Amino acid sequence: MSDTHNRKPFDSADAQHAFRAPLPDADVLLHAGDLTGSGKRHEHQAQVEMFMEHPAELKVVIPGNHDITLDEPYYNSHPWKHGTPQDLVAIREMYSGPKARQAGIVLMKEGIQSFQLKNGAKFTLYASAYQPEFCDWAFAYKRTEDRFNPPSAVERLLGQGPANPIPSHPHIDIMVTHGPPFGIMDSVVGFGARMNASAGCQHLLRAVKRCKPRIHAFGHIHEGWGAKRMKWASDERADGEDQLIPIVVDRGEILERRGAFIDISSSGSSQLQWGQETLFVNASIMDVRYHPRNAPWVVDLELPRG
Ligand SMILES: [Zn+2]
Repeated sequence: MSDTHNRKPFDSADAQHAFRAPLPDADVLLHAGDLTGSGKRHEHQAQVEMFMEHPAELKVVIPGNHDITLDEPYYNSHPWKHGTPQDLVAIREMYSGPKARQAGIVLMKEGIQSFQLKNGAKFTLYASAYQPEFCDWAFAYKRTEDRFNPPSAVERLLGQGPANPIPSHPHIDIMVTHGPPFGIMDSVVGFGARMNASAGCQHLLRAVKRCKPRIHAFGHIHEGWGAKRMKWASDERADGEDQLIPIVVDRGEILERRGAFIDISSSGSSQLQWGQETLFVNASIMDVRYHPRNAPWVVDLELPRG
């Protein structure tokens, strides 16, 4: 899931919303950022409670542009966005203190971590809370900046370039970024002259093409909620182009099951071919009007044994 913006699931009796209690069970819960509206302590509290109540043994959470109190350099340099001053240490503690650790919560802002689950499955995850700048929010970079691909030879000589470039295939199983890659469920609607413009990042698109993770989950662009399966171009395939295939989901079934289910394991009808395919998921729970109308995605996926 992503972009819950301070909302917890609706009551279990609310059949109008797929985002209702209890959230679907899973081994791993991922949240791709925008936990809050503006990073207030009570907003974070609501989200941490939601994670604590979920049975997943691991909950990997990244912030988004709205989670301003988790981007300390940003927060400290933007006093006009503070409102009531917030206790940054207390907020950090909510996600990384002993209670959070016990509940399996892992907060990542940018970088790589490997995990092994109790069932023996292991995976390596790349996370980044950063997205191209828009209206001066947190975790932003300039559109011209490439923070996802390895430095050029010149940059390397000068000691410049991104601190955490995304590794090439086959080092990453799952990518979680707040922002989408360019052209993939990243269309913003109703922006005047920029109607239906792609808001995603070109550099991130190049990086994910190199990385070819099993799943790339993101949010940020609420109106882009959905899932698509990319068949990467290869020498063996005659057409020679990347193919992005939408995954069709049944609205009624989603409402009933409280989630949109995809099985890309070997027991499903269409196993994901790692290295040749990536499942992209825009998991924004909020719609474009900030109403939590969308469903969490539940993906069945096979991972290597540790
Ligand atoms: Zn959002």
